[in-house]
Amino acid sequence: MKRKRQPADAGSGSSPDKSLERLQAKRESAQRKLWTGLKFWEVCPERQCLRARSCRGDVNACRDRFWPQVPKDIKVWLQAAIKARRDGMSPEDANRVGQARAEQVRALEARFEAERRAAADAEAMSAAATRKAIDGALAPPTPSVPPRVRVM
Ligand SMILES: [Zn+2]
Repeated sequence: MKRKRQPADAGSGSSPDKSLERLQAKRESAQRKLWTGLKFWEVCPERQCLRARSCRGDVNACRDRFWPQVPKDIKVWLQAAIKARRDGMSPEDANRVGQARAEQVRALEARFEAERRAAADAEAMSAAATRKAIDGALAPPTPSVPPRVRVM
């Protein structure tokens, strides 16, 4: 096979194939670091991961296995931090952005949860009131005159 050197590649020694490979390798290593940081290896069925105390197996398999189990606020934090890094922020600033975003999500979820509970409580109270009304309607009338008991 004949290779034609593109002027743009001259000197860099790279081809589109190579740069794609590099990009994939970079992505894989970033994911591996992320899975290691999230401690997927502690529960990973691939023994080499536990032994190495880091992600060593198939990064995609580990993502499919464990990513759905990651708590939502952690995902939000990571996604916001990664985006901030891509936008050129320092790791510290990106981390702060991620934490702030996760905090917002936690506050929102806490509010939804409180509202859900309040609604459930209101429903339980109205159900209790209904039961009481039904019980009251079905209860035998209380005798107005106490039974006379002769004491011997
Ligand atoms: Zn693993």
